[in-house]
Amino acid sequence: MNYPADYHMHTPLCRHAVGEPTEYAAHAVELGLKEIGFSDHNPMIRNDYDDWHMWIEELDTYVKNVEIAREHNPSLVIKLALEVDFLPGHEDWIRELASRHPWDYFIGSVHYVSDSWDLDNPKKISEWKLREPYGVWKTYFDRLSQAAASGLFQIIGHTDLPKKFCFYPKEDCTEMFASFLKTAREHGVAIELNTAGLRKDCKEIYPSRKILELAFETGVPITFGSDAHSPGEVGLEFQQAVQLAKDVGYTQWCRFTERRREDISFDS
Ligand code: ZN
Ligand code: FE
Ligand code: FE
Ligand code: ZN
Repeated sequence: MNYPADYHMHTPLCRHAVGEPTEYAAHAVELGLKEIGFSDHNPMIRNDYDDWHMWIEELDTYVKNVEIAREHNPSLVIKLALEVDFLPGHEDWIRELASRHPWDYFIGSVHYVSDSWDLDNPKKISEWKLREPYGVWKTYFDRLSQAAASGLFQIIGHTDLPKKFCFYPKEDCTEMFASFLKTAREHGVAIELNTAGLRKDCKEIYPSRKILELAFETGVPITFGSDAHSPGEVGLEFQQAVQLAKDVGYTQWCRFTERRREDISFDS
């Protein structure tokens, strides 16, 4: 099969991934991928904000390591990117990061639904048990819409991340999904099919088929990402992801080069 680019992969600088970028790239070449992009967790406003982001002093090393991967794997197109945490109030910091290197794209991800709760953190599952899922999902999707409208991001990461540990609202969430997707469409922002969900309790690609169907109807473009935290995870379950995208009607994925978007057919 013709693989779309894997635009979501991490490096050891975030402290919870293994393998150097050049090893991820080598694995991509073995699989027959033509294009990948590194999108490690961005430096936060303070290095001690949490323990799973690279530090600001490491940003230049990150870029250098991606360049080494390019030199060692000349047949592969390798994009330079970050997965950036969106929190309200951090916009100026994100603009500062954007100005430092010629990034191909930023993936805007919401993990934090408050300044201190990253809802996908396994160490903080107890927080879920204190609340009704609906309120958490609502806060999450409000932030996701803000991220899409901010102009800071080309791609929105793992759209329905709150399903990770299976805390599903019993209420209907169609309205919040639709409102986010409309915002993404209006701002020309893509969403990703992220296969890491298949490796979590929810056992499902982010986003769900239902959200992806809505995205297609709304006209939101897509990218693909394994969210690899080790070289062996590159391109994982991409066949299933491409099949899902085709099933709901998509015929193209998008490429980003210095933040400009280009639509690529699955057959090319
Ligand atoms: Zn991570
Ligand atoms: Fe993430
Ligand atoms: Fe990630
Ligand atoms: Zn991620």
